[in-house]
Amino acid sequence: MNDVSAVAGQLTILRERLEQKELELSLLSEQNDAERTLAISFINRLTQACRGHDRELDNKLARLRQRFDEQTPLNQLTDDILAVEKLLQHHANALEESLRLTRDTLKEGGRQLSGTKDIPEKIRKEVREFLNLAQPYAIADHQRQVARLLELYQHSMRALLLRPLALGNKEKDAENNAAKASCDDAVRLRLCDELQRLITELDFTGKVGEELAEIRHQLLTGVEFTLLPELCLKLVELIIDGARQERRESHLFLSSLNDSLSAVHLRLTESLDQGRELHEQHQRHGSEIHARLDDISLQLDSQSNLQQLKQSIRQNLQYLQTLLLERNDLMQREAHLIESLGAMENKLNLMREETAEYKKRMAQQKHKLLLDSLTQVFNRAAFDERVELEYKRWQRYQNPLCLAIVDIDHFKSINDRFGHLAGDKALKVIARAMSRSLRETDFIARYGGEEFVVLLPGVDADNMLSPLDKLRNVVKGIPFRFKDDKVEITISIGTTFFREGDTPTEVFERADRALYDAKNGGRDRIIVV
Ligand code: GH3
Ligand code: MG
Ligand code: MG
Repeated sequence: MNDVSAVAGQLTILRERLEQKELELSLLSEQNDAERTLAISFINRLTQACRGHDRELDNKLARLRQRFDEQTPLNQLTDDILAVEKLLQHHANALEESLRLTRDTLKEGGRQLSGTKDIPEKIRKEVREFLNLAQPYAIADHQRQVARLLELYQHSMRALLLRPLALGNKEKDAENNAAKASCDDAVRLRLCDELQRLITELDFTGKVGEELAEIRHQLLTGVEFTLLPELCLKLVELIIDGARQERRESHLFLSSLNDSLSAVHLRLTESLDQGRELHEQHQRHGSEIHARLDDISLQLDSQSNLQQLKQSIRQNLQYLQTLLLERNDLMQREAHLIESLGAMENKLNLMREETAEYKKRMAQQKHKLLLDSLTQVFNRAAFDERVELEYKRWQRYQNPLCLAIVDIDHFKSINDRFGHLAGDKALKVIARAMSRSLRETDFIARYGGEEFVVLLPGVDADNMLSPLDKLRNVVKGIPFRFKDDKVEITISIGTTFFREGDTPTEVFERADRALYDAKNGGRDRIIVV
C-alpha cells in the first residue's frame, strides 16, 4: 500500500513537472512566433526602404522574407542574412561616396560661380553665403543645397544674358561672332530658302503682301540665325492678318448681298400684295360697270316714264363716271407697280452680276492657290494633287508615267554675282521656257527654290529622252545677260518611271537620287534610273 502511494506521489510530481515543461515550451514557441513576426515586419520595412536601388538586393530580401514565411529554422537562414548584410554594406559605402562627391561638386560649383566675371555683386554675396553653409548630413540636405546652387546659377545666367546691353560694341561683336560661328550655317541657309519659297506660295495683296515680299527679300539676302525665330513669328502674324482680311472682305460681300436680298424680298412681298389688291379692285369695277350697264338697258326696256328713265340713266352715268375716275387712279397705281418691279429686276440683275463676279474671283483664287506666285507655274500643292491623280491613272490604265526632277546648276552663284533680283528674274524666265517646251498633257511645278518637278504621262524609256533633252537645251539656249555679262544657265535632271509596286514617294526619291548623280557627274545632264 505504501509502495503504491509512493508511486502515486512520484507520478503526481512527474505530471506536475511535465505540465511545467509544456508551459515553458508553449511560452518559448509564442516568443519564437513574436520574434519571427518582428523579423518579417523588419524585412518588409527594409524591402520598402531599399526597393529600386538594386535588383539583386530586392531579390535577396524577397527570398529572405519567403524563408521566414516558410518557418525555416533560424540557424538555416544565416547565409541569406549575411548576403543581405553584405549588399547593404556595399550600398552604404556607395551612398557615402556619392554624397561625398555631391558635397565636393557643390563646393566646386559654388567656388566657380563666385569666381565668374560680370555676375552682379548681390548674387556673388549669396554664393559666398552658400559656400559658408554647414556641411549637409542627410540626403535631403544635399538635395536642398543642389537646388539652391541651381537657383543661383539661374540668377547668374539671367544677369549674364541681359549684360550685353551694357557692354561695349567690341565685346558684343566678338560674342555675336562666336555665337554666329557656332550656328549651323547649312541649316540656316536651308531654313531661309524654304521660308522664302513658302512665301512665294502665298498670294496676299495690299499691305500684308508688301510686308511678305519684304521678308522674302530679307531671307534671300541672308538672315542671321538668331533673327529667324522672330521672322517666323512675324510671318505667322502676317498670314493670320491676311487670312483675317480676306475673311472680312468675304463677310462684307456676303452680308451686303444678304441685305440686298432681304430688301428685294420685302419689296416683292409688298408688290405682290398691291398687285393682288389692284386685281380685286379691277374685278369689282368690271362687275360694277356691267351691273350699271345692265341696269340702264333694263330701264330702257321697261321704263315708260321718260322723266324717270332720264333720272335713272343720269344716276347710273354719274356712278359710272366715279368708277372711271377710280379706274384712272388704279391704272396709275398699276404703272407705279410695274415701274417698281422693273427697278427690282434691275437690282436683281445687278446682284446676279456681283455674284457671278464673286464666283469668278473665287475660281481665280482657287487657281492661284495652286500657282507659284513668282514663276507662275504650278506650286508644290498642285504637284501633290496632280501626282496623286496621275498615279491613280497609271494604276488603272498602266500607261507609262515618267517623273523628272530638274535643278538649276550653280544658281547660288547667280544670286551672289548679280543679286537676288536678277536671280528671281532668271527663275521666271527659265520656268516659262520649260513650261512652253512641254506638251499640253505634261505637268511642271516649282518644287523648291530652284528645283522643278515634271510629270510626263504616256512617256516611256524609248521616248523619254527627247522631251527632257529638249528641256535641257531650251534652258541652256536662253541668252541671259546680267550687267552686260552673257551668262549661260544649265540644268541637271534626274528621272525615273513608275514601276510595279511603286508609290509616288518612292519614285520621287529615286529621281532625286538620279539628280544627285547628275550633279556629281558634272551637271548639265540627264540621269535615268
Ligand atoms: P547646284 O548646282 O548644286 O544645284 O548648286 P546651286 O547653287 O544651284 O544649289 P544650292 O542648293 O547650293 O543653292 C540654291 C540657291 O538658290 C540658293 C538660294 O538662295 C537660291 N534660291 C532659291 N530660291 C530662290 C528664289 O526664289 N529667288 C532667288 N533669287 N534665289 C533663290
Ligand atoms: Mg541648284
Ligand atoms: Mg537645289
